[in-house]
Amino acid sequence: MAPGYQKSKEMFEQAQMVIPGGVNSPVRAFKSVGMTPPFIARANGSRLWDADGNEYIDYVCSWGPLILGHRHPAVMHAIQRCLERGTTYGAPTDLELTLAQMVVEALPSVEMVRMVNSGTEATMSALRLARAYTNRSKIVKFEGCYHGHHDSLLIKAGSGALTHGVPTSPGVPENIAGNTINARYNDLELLEKIFAEAGSEIAAVIVEPLAGNMGVVPPAEGFLQGLRNLCNKYGALLIFDEVITGFRLSYGGAQSYYNVMPDLTCLGKIIGGGLPVGAYGGRREIMQMVSPAGPVYQAGTLSGNPLAMTAGIATLEQLQQPGVYEELNRKSALLAQGLSQAARAAGVPASFNRVESLQTCFFTGHPVNDFASASTSDTKRYAAFFRSMLEQGIYLAPSQFEAIFVSTAHTDSDIERTVEAAYHAYKAAAQI
Ligand code: PMP
Repeated sequence: MAPGYQKSKEMFEQAQMVIPGGVNSPVRAFKSVGMTPPFIARANGSRLWDADGNEYIDYVCSWGPLILGHRHPAVMHAIQRCLERGTTYGAPTDLELTLAQMVVEALPSVEMVRMVNSGTEATMSALRLARAYTNRSKIVKFEGCYHGHHDSLLIKAGSGALTHGVPTSPGVPENIAGNTINARYNDLELLEKIFAEAGSEIAAVIVEPLAGNMGVVPPAEGFLQGLRNLCNKYGALLIFDEVITGFRLSYGGAQSYYNVMPDLTCLGKIIGGGLPVGAYGGRREIMQMVSPAGPVYQAGTLSGNPLAMTAGIATLEQLQQPGVYEELNRKSALLAQGLSQAARAAGVPASFNRVESLQTCFFTGHPVNDFASASTSDTKRYAAFFRSMLEQGIYLAPSQFEAIFVSTAHTDSDIERTVEAAYHAYKAAAQI
């Protein structure tokens, strides 16, 4: 039975009058899948319900924060207890101390950490710090990696491989774009050339240690270590953007998972347990440069917000329980296996990337290991797949170039239902 979307459609129309595009973050508008988005009314565990009462198994999980699913009881109780003490004080609390200690204990490269309110703020602040520490201006990012929407990082590759970047958005000044160099994910040779040419000007290399924003693309063997070596050789800082991977690939993040240590780490999502948060941290000697310990200015009215700290602490406590990651990853593997069998049975070319609880099914016959190969995906097929899944009550990211997020709340029967639905959705995609 095809669900109705009448209430959502009406709200989306009204929203477009008062909110640009009707949404507060572009991907939510469902543009690339040619639909209007359901407006969500409530959620629980692995499920979402929209304003029209349609129920979905949710694989977006708010784009990653909800590794425990929606309304995990321990997180809910902690937030409720915290609410009774107020919502924000603009003054230090024990909660900030606790979460900072937990982050420092979990991430081997992090000795000090500063809380902010979003992943964007974390990467923006980390770049400023890296520039201050090295007294250099240029940064290197990788095509297809996303680090938030501040000027230095809304940059794509220019025409030549070694040219400086060009803005991906109007409003980003050319002179800022000129300080960002675009490299290719999993291409150490190109990076070596970039360093040979501009090494003395490069403050930092920022990377998603496992890319999640061009769909899931794992680092090739030796890639992250290669970055580490080049940064050491040229005196640049290595920044791991672990906004997605932190506390997801393992409790110690991607840095523990791949055993490569960055100088600075950016966090967000999971450490806020579903409330707005970000953080950046690293070696003491670098972090001591942040105001008021040092001269690099960075501040925030709601930074370290008690509710967000509480939700983060409660989430990390759950993740410390024995066997949590094993069970999460087992379910993710089950899903990946089911999806790839379904795609094969439906006769649609598909390429699967999965690392633990993050996975993407690319609608391409090619292996996907960088932005160029991800871009060979047939996005029309993805849109058909997506629409069919949504109609069958499975809520996926409304874009090919995102991850499927599995949470601890997903059950084996959720996964079975998803795989069954996927077979029909792949059939629909195959007809495109
Ligand atoms: N870095 C990465 C790796 C991300 O995936 C995101 C957002 N999806 C960000 C940074 C930006 O975080 P935020 O949306 O909280 O600003």
